[in-house]
Amino acid sequence: MSIDKLGGSEKDVGGIPVARILPNRNKRTIGAWCFLDHAGPSIFKGDSRGLQVGLHPHTNLQTFTWMIEGEVLHQDSLGNRQTIRPGAINLMTAGNGKNAISHTEQTVAGCDRLHAVQLWIALPRNRDIAPAFEHQENLPTWEDDRARYLLTIGDYAGHRAPTTCHTPLIGLDIFSKQSGNLTLKLNQNHEYGLLVIEGNITHNGETYRDNELIALSDCQLETDTLFTFHSEKNTRLFLIGGLPLPFTPVLWWNFVGQSGAEISQAVKDWNNHHPRFGNIDITGTGLKRLNAPEPPAPIHHDRT
Ligand code: MN
Repeated sequence: MSIDKLGGSEKDVGGIPVARILPNRNKRTIGAWCFLDHAGPSIFKGDSRGLQVGLHPHTNLQTFTWMIEGEVLHQDSLGNRQTIRPGAINLMTAGNGKNAISHTEQTVAGCDRLHAVQLWIALPRNRDIAPAFEHQENLPTWEDDRARYLLTIGDYAGHRAPTTCHTPLIGLDIFSKQSGNLTLKLNQNHEYGLLVIEGNITHNGETYRDNELIALSDCQLETDTLFTFHSEKNTRLFLIGGLPLPFTPVLWWNFVGQSGAEISQAVKDWNNHHPRFGNIDITGTGLKRLNAPEPPAPIHHDRT
């Protein structure tokens, strides 16, 4: 098993500073998780209306939002309108066939803060998956003398989240109640990323702080195994993992594809208002319809 430390790079998403952890130059994907933004914790000051993400599309992925603080309204082209609050997830499936999806995300009026993790899950390409949306707020939780756990997706330690999974995945929120060792159970065929959201942990003499992730790859272990590390009190972690993807997805803007040609087509279709992305009436929301930037030349070459 190889152990790597991944850091985040700072970005702005809809007016909010975020740390982008995936994709990372040292690691493109962890299981089918292909994108990871940690937003906040932010408190809005002055005239800030918080997160204001205009109408944009997605293809061949699921957007997965885990809310820690704040309230965000999601609206999509399937007609869903859902406010997400702490302890809940929104999972939007863009679909991987003819039909895709578009959506907006905005901080609810009067809410002055945001702390969230948004991830993308690459969809498998060996069968058709239609656009869909689900909201989950009754997620399995449990605790031991060291930590509280909340399972957002997948199976872990005899618990199962109700969230739709198209490939074997896990997303586990961990909050340490006191300083001490924590032990995670790892599936022998999966790879993992353990993100420090707040606080710090130590493994093998190395300390990992906010927005740093321990990537556990090339697992291919003979049996399921245990991973033990030291955690400070009040540290919040998010464990992602899953079966390594059988392909390297191409990411550009809000699109995932298998080839540069597929991405270029998606850019062209969205900018030409192709009906496959549906539509939302954004009149009165203060939001814009976002244009897809042209991909750089190298992306036009298919990866084979
Ligand atoms: Mn989006």
